[in-house]
Amino acid sequence: MVHLQVGAFRQVVPATLVYSWEFVIDSTELEGSHLVVEQVPAVISCGDCGMLTTLSLPILVCGGCGSFNVVLISGEEFMVTSLELSENARG
Ligand SMILES: [Zn+2]
Repeated sequence: MVHLQVGAFRQVVPATLVYSWEFVIDSTELEGSHLVVEQVPAVISCGDCGMLTTLSLPILVCGGCGSFNVVLISGEEFMVTSLELSENARG
């Protein structure tokens, strides 16, 4: 089982990723393993009012005061968070 965290800003469709996974791992040591994709929402922090905004659109604007003085906190992830190999794959 492979757990993957994908940020909302990555423009990746989890279902497509899982579908592609089956082909990528075919005839490799990972054959038969499952890919679990967890989507991470894009969250920004405002430098002016300090409010956290979860973005539904990829536009970096504070939801509280409309400021563009914001920092992206999450949403750019693309990482494997855990990897569990079956007994058969281990040797
Ligand atoms: Zn703000």
